[in-house]
Amino acid sequence: MKFLNVEMMHPRDQIVMVIDRIYKRGMTTTSGGNISVIDENGDIWITPSGVDKGNLKPRDIMRVKRDGTIVGPHKPSSEYPFHRAIFEMRPDLKAVIHAHPPALVSFSIARTIPDTNVIPQAKYVCGPIGYAPYALPGSEELGEVIGKEFAKGFKAVIMENHGTVLGGSDLSDAFQRFETLELCARTIINAKTIGQCRRLSDEQIDAFEDQIPRLQPEFECEMHSSKEREIRTEITKIVRRACQQGMMISSYGTVSRRLKGNDFLITPTNKSRWDIFPEDIVLIKDGKREKGKLPSRATWLHQELYRKNPEINSIILTQSPYLMAYGVTGEKFDVRTIPESWIFLQDVPNMPFGSHFKDRNEILDTIDKDTPVVIVENDSVVVTGDKLLQTFDRLEVAEFSAKSLVLGHSIGDLIPIGADEIEDLRKKFLS
Ligand SMILES: [Zn+2]
Repeated sequence: MKFLNVEMMHPRDQIVMVIDRIYKRGMTTTSGGNISVIDENGDIWITPSGVDKGNLKPRDIMRVKRDGTIVGPHKPSSEYPFHRAIFEMRPDLKAVIHAHPPALVSFSIARTIPDTNVIPQAKYVCGPIGYAPYALPGSEELGEVIGKEFAKGFKAVIMENHGTVLGGSDLSDAFQRFETLELCARTIINAKTIGQCRRLSDEQIDAFEDQIPRLQPEFECEMHSSKEREIRTEITKIVRRACQQGMMISSYGTVSRRLKGNDFLITPTNKSRWDIFPEDIVLIKDGKREKGKLPSRATWLHQELYRKNPEINSIILTQSPYLMAYGVTGEKFDVRTIPESWIFLQDVPNMPFGSHFKDRNEILDTIDKDTPVVIVENDSVVVTGDKLLQTFDRLEVAEFSAKSLVLGHSIGDLIPIGADEIEDLRKKFLS
């Protein structure tokens, strides 16, 4: 199975799939990191010690039975003591991920905790973050200091001069928390390279939750047209690709595509983006939702953008670590970096936090064919376009441009393409 299904998959298969994702997304090395799942018998399934994380097989996963008996061909992870300590302290947690992802390790060396108030979703998914003082890897003492932090109620802990450890109600929940916290850490580090990080107050974050529109009324969907089925597959493929390319994380991001008139298909809420299927996509027809499905909480914004802009046929709303650096600093993202960036994006304005709330007009008044992308401060990037693949490409171009600017910041003055050259590009490519 290529997709994570925590209800139907054996713990060893879940662990192999998640470690593979973590490795491929550059969030662990061959030797570092370990994952465990506790089952209904109290048996702990855990990654082995000293086996290549890029090439792990289900049969490599070790089982430590409730009575301490070890089953399997290797030794259990050397960090088994703290995995066990977390499960002992927290019966609500059934899965644990420990790794050394670069941005969170930066925080652990700087001996500080990422401030999740920079992005509402990060605060919501990760909760408050604990901090465990340094102790010898693999020691009972490390188990004790980590167990103590989890006993305080944290589900995510920074380990001093080491890395991070996170728990979840299942492995999908733990992975979402892990990915979200690492994105938050990357965003903060990138942001501090180019300016001052702005944090939201708890009141501002609550204001988002308070304004989420009531669910649309339902309609009974009698049959799915060929066109609709085609779009469902198209959206699914783009969402998975966005996750693989680091343009989207499991806990955040919405993709939609116009069907006909103002009807469109959109991704659901509360579903890991890595594991989206065509049948999860929700049809919105005449402002009503397909019966029994919960569309993205950003459906209102997508709907109004389609109503107002007949030339827009697809929309991606997401968070990526370099564009979000502009989002959390409020610095101007100048796309006159290379010809391709300007041709694809032209101007990318920053919109204030809250402009994406229901009944606000700022984004609707700004996005049009000359301004296809906006950054919503401390929240997201909104990318629009005609074909979905074109919109995705536009997102990638924007993220790459933001990356070049952030990385280039330390070299010296970054000089945009001049006004005359921009005029030449306009004449040749846009008129
Ligand atoms: Zn470690």
